[in-house]
Amino acid sequence: MHRMYENDDITVFWDSDKCRHSRVCVSGNSAVFNFARKPWVMLENGDNKSIWQIVERCPTKALTVTYNHDVKIVFEEENKRSVAILNGEIIGECDYAVTPEGFEVFHTEVRPGHEGKGIAKRLVFKVFEAAERSRQKINATCSYAKKLLES
Ligand code: SF4
Repeated sequence: MHRMYENDDITVFWDSDKCRHSRVCVSGNSAVFNFARKPWVMLENGDNKSIWQIVERCPTKALTVTYNHDVKIVFEEENKRSVAILNGEIIGECDYAVTPEGFEVFHTEVRPGHEGKGIAKRLVFKVFEAAERSRQKINATCSYAKKLLES
């Protein structure tokens, strides 16, 4: 399962396949990380600096974090894509097709000058999350999305 938790400044990613429930996160701040609650991550219950430090202590990298850099990620079901928006301009996208086997992610792109800011991961996780919430399987022919699925 892939989930993203966002506030204005940071995005925390969670890949449940990597989670070994060591609870380092929960003991770091149980108001933010609490497996007995949905959603289990509530960024509004902590400050960004301490959340970042706790995420970095996750032993399996099930949790990761990035700054948002003022970029918003929007899921557009009608266009079968997620888009990254900065100052009203689209600066990246992740495209998928709906096949009998589920969602097939075939293209992820971040415009030149905006690489290295975690935008591609946010775009792909947004699509993965949508697929999983609608109980669809995920396949990826996009090499970046495939890497995230298999890593
Ligand atoms: S610290 Fe990481 S591996 Fe441990 S419970 Fe939290 S998310 Fe899972």
